[in-house]
Amino acid sequence: MKLERVELSPVRYRLRSTLGSARAPLRERQGVRVRVRDEDGRSALGEALPLASAGTEALARTRSALGAAAGALRGASGELDELLDGIEARWPDAPAARCALDSALHELEARRLGLPVAGLLGTDPRTKVAVNALLGSGEFETVLARARDFVARGYETLKLKLGVDPPRADLERVARLRAELGPSIRLRLDPNGAWPVPAAREMLERLAPLEVELVELPLPASVWRQLRRLADDSPVPLAADECLALPEARRALADGDLTPLAVLKPMVLGGLRAAARLAERASAAGVRCFATTTLEGPAGTAAALQLAAAVCDPELACGLAGPEAVEAAFPAWLTPRRGRLRPGAAEGFGEGGAA
Ligand SMILES: [Mg+2]
Repeated sequence: MKLERVELSPVRYRLRSTLGSARAPLRERQGVRVRVRDEDGRSALGEALPLASAGTEALARTRSALGAAAGALRGASGELDELLDGIEARWPDAPAARCALDSALHELEARRLGLPVAGLLGTDPRTKVAVNALLGSGEFETVLARARDFVARGYETLKLKLGVDPPRADLERVARLRAELGPSIRLRLDPNGAWPVPAAREMLERLAPLEVELVELPLPASVWRQLRRLADDSPVPLAADECLALPEARRALADGDLTPLAVLKPMVLGGLRAAARLAERASAAGVRCFATTTLEGPAGTAAALQLAAAVCDPELACGLAGPEAVEAAFPAWLTPRRGRLRPGAAEGFGEGGAA
């Protein structure tokens, strides 16, 4: 492909409600929208929505990297992989910026070849992807009302943020939610690395009778080396998440030496190619992967959906219910129906545009 130019514009999305978690409360998402045009008049979109607490660069770095990339890629030509190799080598410290460029270039290549993006990432893309709804934290009654609404609309997997309150209160919250919702709903928990090792061990033991589907990163990302032992002993399956921003943790995952499950965020991993390659190696080692966004708009969500369709475990719901959480002009095909999305209905990453 030969690129004509790369256009940048700021993007900002408000969240439908403040997302409380063990990290700082999140009220909005800010980033950069990237439009790439080729010499044949095709164009494609990507978005960079950095979230430093999830392991990306800070917004200022995203902006400076993309500013430099827009200049460097004007008139650039080469195979998709060559262009992506160059981007990876030049901006290794800016995964969100790389994600936007990588997504847009994948979409451009897919358009050129008349394929879905998932067809570039995997050999047998799925036609349906189950998605989970996000409950956040907050007052129990509010969380329960949201959970009931999601269940009534067909979601089968709900994700609850933990780690804001002390472990005892978290435990009580999960037990009440399980009692209210009954046994058929899959409950996924995310303490975002809030628990020290002894507290994590105790929590996992106590959560086991509550039939929790999985727990995302229980320990701080900085002590990821202790995850393997914790996961081996845990009665609840553990998923690596924020720690996958670290190359060594990614290598351990790919070698089957970390956790049995993994959350793949293209925004943190530096784009679709990096995420798909990690999924391929980890899956070969027996790790089951699912994809999520970092709460993104239509372009980021559409890109992550293509990744999910291509490489993720069909039994695990993905965190792609963007319209439930983010105020943006999501197209109808990115709005989950009965807790599912159909990647084949995709009409390009940017269809619907940003709010
Ligand atoms: Mg997580």
